[in-house]
Amino acid sequence: MPPARNISQHGSFDVLVIGAGAAGLAAAAELGRAGKSVLVLEARDRIGGRCWSLDEPGLPVPVELGAEFIHGRPAATFSLLLRAGMVAVGRTGGGWYAERGKLNPTGEIFTEIRKALRRAGMPKKDVSFEAFLARELRHLSPKARAFARRRVEGYDAADPARASARAIVGEWSGEDDATAASHFRPSGGYGALLEWLAGTLDRDRVRLELQTVVRKVRWKRGSVEVEGAASGRPFRAAAARALITLPLGVLQGGGVRFTPALKEKRRALKGLAPSPVLKVALRFRSPFWEKLDGGRYEDAAFFRSLEAPFPSFWTAMPVRAPLLTAWAGGPRAARLSGAGAPEIIRRAMESLKSVFGGRVGRLEAAFVHDWQQDPYARGAYSYVAVGGEGARKTLAAPLRDALFFAGEATDFEGEHGTVAGALQSGIRAARGMLG
Ligand SMILES: Cc1cc2nc3c(=O)[nH]c(=O)nc-3n(C[C@H](O)[C@H](O)[C@H](O)COP(=O)(O)OP(=O)(O)OC[C@H]3O[C@@H](n4cnc5c(N)ncnc54)[C@H](O)[C@@H]3O)c2cc1C
Repeated sequence: MPPARNISQHGSFDVLVIGAGAAGLAAAAELGRAGKSVLVLEARDRIGGRCWSLDEPGLPVPVELGAEFIHGRPAATFSLLLRAGMVAVGRTGGGWYAERGKLNPTGEIFTEIRKALRRAGMPKKDVSFEAFLARELRHLSPKARAFARRRVEGYDAADPARASARAIVGEWSGEDDATAASHFRPSGGYGALLEWLAGTLDRDRVRLELQTVVRKVRWKRGSVEVEGAASGRPFRAAAARALITLPLGVLQGGGVRFTPALKEKRRALKGLAPSPVLKVALRFRSPFWEKLDGGRYEDAAFFRSLEAPFPSFWTAMPVRAPLLTAWAGGPRAARLSGAGAPEIIRRAMESLKSVFGGRVGRLEAAFVHDWQQDPYARGAYSYVAVGGEGARKTLAAPLRDALFFAGEATDFEGEHGTVAGALQSGIRAARGMLG
């Protein structure tokens, strides 16, 4: 075995940042600006983590394999867009859902569900969302209950039988109707935004190493040493402190060994669950749906079919593009994950045919990444399981002034599960280190 290359020997670093996703990059930028020397270690051959944009020739929008939307108006994302000279493009268009072979406008069903939720109030003792639905929302119509369940599966990408009702009620009743309905996309995509952020890193202070997989972290107050493989060769690096931005599924899965073990985090790691998601971008020869049924769906933003393996599809509106994105979250995604791209794409097309009664155009290309099978993601984002209240905050807490934690799962300020949450958690952790 060749000796381990010591990445940090030619320059001593104040901080090691593990992971160059949104959280790691935001933290590295903040630390570099404050004069700290930083070594960022990233397993993949690219930055961005669960943000991954592909620019496809002839398509006016990027294909987003990971994050795509900005939900509401989170300050962390909007201020970054402003500095990058990019804009947030508001999603436009209405929704349609397929029922008994017909497409109907979606209407105000979610507003009705939120009203019922507010009336029911916060459950005193935590139960699963499924139990809450059966007990407290039993007066809702079966259709509205099916929508509520699909929303937990689709949006939170959670299993209603495991998801904390207290967390969901807090999330849904906290936001106002306008915020809940406003979705944007970064012009040029999340890939471009994070490339811009990486481009701002002060190269004299911040070093970024790609294809560098961390396997072991030995830590105590005043010293953190990591080991792993850099481009297939063993490496080690050391600093006084480290910021861990590993995704929840990676932390739970044990792919990185901490010595001593993170016993302070055990309960928190049990209280959160990785959200399974399958997202398939389908590129057609033309936007065929715009011509169907006398042009009724010309300006559609999304289509839903409650029972299909992929229950949601969205268009690129307000940009007109021959692109439909299929989305499955929660148990449906978990069941299909691992089946391989051809089968996943086949199921997405089958679901699409069920929406349009078979009237779909010619598929030219399809793009999918199975994030559950990805060893550096192990899921799309995270949700709070029954009894997991407070877990995000516990996960975020630093250990002995040596290990700091960031990443979407550690955001306890209302943006968990999102790029905004990852960005603001990185800034929060960096500021915590700076004292
Ligand atoms: C399909 C999908 C759709 C999504 N849609 C949206 C959306 O529309 N809007 C939204 O806001 N959010 C969305 N999200 C969530 C969003 O992408 C994440 O919340 C956010 O990108 C997480 O950033 P992060 O920095 O916390 O983690 P990551 O981006 O995962 O960064 C962690 C980094 O650590 C690296 N790493 C892992 N293991 C190791 C190791 N052993 N050694 C070194 N490095 C390692 C990873 O490669 C990665 O780069 C979506 C996610 C997915 C997967």
